[in-house]
Parts: sequence; structure tokens; C-alpha cells
Amino acid sequence: MGIARVDKQLCLSWQGKSCGVCYRACPLQDKAIIVGFMEQPEVLDACVGCGLCESSCIQIPQAIKIIPSHTLDQLRSS
Ligand code: SF4
Ligand code: SF4
Repeated sequence: MGIARVDKQLCLSWQGKSCGVCYRACPLQDKAIIVGFMEQPEVLDACVGCGLCESSCIQIPQAIKIIPSHTLDQLRSS
């Protein structure tokens, strides 16, 4: 499927407004996604790309999005 990636410029928590909604939506809390100060999310390798964080993100456009596997492969090989 892919893996989630956070756009820190869009993310409310990374912009100083504690949010963490995506973290609470994740079925793999503390394995696929962790939060730090101000609930700033960080995605880990255990992310399965289910998309629940993306669909829960309250920011418009969403600050956390799934990067498809084929795009990741292209990024890694370039
Ligand atoms: S894509 Fe799914 S597993 Fe990955 S961080 Fe988002 S909710 Fe968690
Ligand atoms: S739900 Fe969206 S805005 Fe809120 S912490 Fe997660 S990525 Fe940032």
C-alpha cells in the first residue's frame, strides 16, 4: 500500500497547536506513529499505510498523507 508521511508545514501540532487526532486514529499507536511535544506526529517504519490517519486529519488539505509504495520505490531508486 504505502506509508504515511507528515507535512510539517501543514500539521497543526508542528505549527504549535496541539492536535494529535491522527495518532488517536491509528490502530498501531506507538508502533506505526508516535507523538512528542505538542502531540507532533512522527511515522515509523511499522506503518502499514491503512490511511486512517489521513482520513482523520482535521487540517485542509490533510497534513498526513499516504505515499503509495510505487512512489516510494521511485524515490528510493532515484
Ligand atoms: S497509515 Fe495507518 S498504520 Fe500508518 S500511521 Fe496512518 S493510521 Fe497508522
Ligand atoms: S491530525 Fe493532521 S494536523 Fe493533527 S496532528 Fe495529525 S497530521 Fe497534524
